[in-house]
Amino acid sequence: NTASDYALEARGLSKAFGAFNAVKDVDLKVKRGSIHALIGPNGAGKTTCFNLLTKTLTPTAGQVIFEDRDITRLRTAQVARLGLVRSFQISATFPHLTCLENVRVALQSGFDKSFRFWSSLAAIRPLDARAMELLDQVGLADRAQAKATELSYGKKRALEIATTLALDPKVMLLDEPTAGMGHEDIEPITDLIRKVSEGRTTLIVEHNLSVVSSLCERITVLQHGEVLVEGTYDDVSSNEDVIKAYMGG
Ligand code: ADP
Repeated sequence: NTASDYALEARGLSKAFGAFNAVKDVDLKVKRGSIHALIGPNGAGKTTCFNLLTKTLTPTAGQVIFEDRDITRLRTAQVARLGLVRSFQISATFPHLTCLENVRVALQSGFDKSFRFWSSLAAIRPLDARAMELLDQVGLADRAQAKATELSYGKKRALEIATTLALDPKVMLLDEPTAGMGHEDIEPITDLIRKVSEGRTTLIVEHNLSVVSSLCERITVLQHGEVLVEGTYDDVSSNEDVIKAYMGG
C-alpha cells in the first residue's frame, strides 16, 4: 500500500487538555473509497479525534493528512472546502426552513464546486434543481416543502445527510448517525449511508455494532485515547482486549 491508497490519515495525533491526554499518539489510515468506523467506550477519545481531524481542535502533536496533503495547520472551513466534511456540525439544519431551503442554504454556502461562482438570483433555479436531486437521493423528494421541524427523527438525519452531500465531500465524517434512533429508523439510515458513501470515503463514529458490522470494512477501536486495535469486524470483535474494554475491564 502506498500513501495515496488513503484518503485520510492521522499520524501520531495527540491532544492534551491541561495535564489530561484525551488522545495519545493515534495513527489512523482511512482507505480511499471505504467506510471506516471509529469505536470505543465512552470517554475513549472518539469525539476529540473527530474534532482534530476536521480541525475543530488543534492537536498538541501529530499530523492530519487529507488526500496526501498535510492539513494540520488549516482551519475547519478550509478543510471543508477541500472536501473533508463532518456531518451534524457544519451542516446543522434550520428547523423552520423547508427541506428544500435547508439544502439550498448548504449549496449556497459556496462549498459546492459547481455553484461556487453563482451568487445572484439567477442561480436560484439551478440551485433548486440540484437541491431536489439531493433530497431525492436521501428519500425526501416528497417532503421538499415540509419544514425540517415537521420531519420524523429518522428523516431529520436524512436531511442532515442531504445538507452534507450539498458540500460535495470527498471524505465524510458521520458522528453517531443512528444515535437515539428506534429500530425502524436504523435500517433505512444504514442503507442510506451505504448508498451515499459510494464514490466517497466515510469515517463514522457509531455505537451500534450491528450497524458497524454491516457497513464498515475497517474498524479502529480507541480506549483511553489510544488505538487498542485496528482490523475487520471479525478481527476486532474476537479480540480479547476489545471484549474486556467493552465489559468495562
Ligand atoms: P468519546 O467521544 O469517545 O466519548 P471524548 O473525545 O468526548 O470521548 O472525550 C475523551 C476524554 O477527554 C474524556 O475523558 C473527556 O472528559 C475529555 N475531554 C473532552 N473534551 C475535553 C475538554 N474540552 N476539556 C477537558 N477534557 C475534555
